[in-house]
Amino acid sequence: MYDIIGDIHGCTYELSLLLEKMGYEWDTFDGTIIYKPPDGRKAVFVGDLVDRGYSSATAYCLVRDMVRAGFALLCRGNHDDKFMRWAKGNNVILNHGLDKTTEDAGRMGLSKEGILDFLKNTPMYLSLDDGKLIVAHAAWRNSLKDKSPFDKKCRTWCLYGPTTGKTLENGLPDRIDWAAERKETEPLIVYGHQPYKEPRYLNGTYAIDTGCVFGGHLTALRYPEMEIVQIKANRTYDNSKPDISDDI
Ligand code: MN
Repeated sequence: MYDIIGDIHGCTYELSLLLEKMGYEWDTFDGTIIYKPPDGRKAVFVGDLVDRGYSSATAYCLVRDMVRAGFALLCRGNHDDKFMRWAKGNNVILNHGLDKTTEDAGRMGLSKEGILDFLKNTPMYLSLDDGKLIVAHAAWRNSLKDKSPFDKKCRTWCLYGPTTGKTLENGLPDRIDWAAERKETEPLIVYGHQPYKEPRYLNGTYAIDTGCVFGGHLTALRYPEMEIVQIKANRTYDNSKPDISDDI
């Protein structure tokens, strides 16, 4: 069924190794070379394709082409959303690697119109397997079930997750561990955004961002088998987090 893949952040090399480890093979589609899944499977990306890493624009193109071919699904991450707002012409701050992402996109000849057109059509969550499986970037809650994945009301929870409204000493928002506070155990929610050293299962949620860009692992959760497949980062690409279990 689904191979759900955590935050990539431009780690294209590790993404290739992970897809190959799960049986994906190079193929051509519409004149483009892409990874084709084994029969009956589909890749599902939790978002944050870009920023922080070394080849964000390449990772973006690889996933975009898989989505267009029907080989993958993508829900939008906060970094993808910021990349989209840049493409739209909004005045966004080019930090956390967005400067390199946009430079590379320019060098590769990606048009802002094309980036905007693709990313604006990415949902803020995916409801799969008759609603038994939800994939969202940062968080989800059962009360969002009746909201469209394009409804702006999903935005804060799905892209950023809940915070206390306070700011930590390091200038980052104080996040709430919503999964620990979750009362329901269904549907299963698979998400990224918050890097942990190991994938974390808690109260019907599965956190699969294991901080590849910070020198951790790129993780996939195979559904419904609930098997974890991982690739160790080739190196640390972003040194801003000495401990990948820290909040980002
Ligand atoms: Mn992320």
